[in-house]
Amino acid sequence: MIKYYVDVPNAALPDEVWITLASFDTKEEAIEYTQHYFLADEEGNINLISEIESDEEEDEDVLRCEKCGKEFPKSDEYYAEVAYDQHECEDGG
Ligand SMILES: [Zn+2]
Repeated sequence: MIKYYVDVPNAALPDEVWITLASFDTKEEAIEYTQHYFLADEEGNINLISEIESDEEEDEDVLRCEKCGKEFPKSDEYYAEVAYDQHECEDGG
């Protein structure tokens, strides 16, 4: 006897096995379930990817000297700015 399972990835542990949410005797019931809870398409497929235009500026995680290209990681933002101010620019400043 064929059963139809609705499984989803474990969002917190993507490498782990998928989690079974429900099982049905017919594919139609399984599709209805996925449409009701996950806005699935007519085949029960859901799309996990959203494409949204962002107007946020990309937050660079390094401070880069425009003259010599030297980079200062902003893991410590204060230190990065001090090191930036004090570095010896390779093009002679
Ligand atoms: Zn420089």
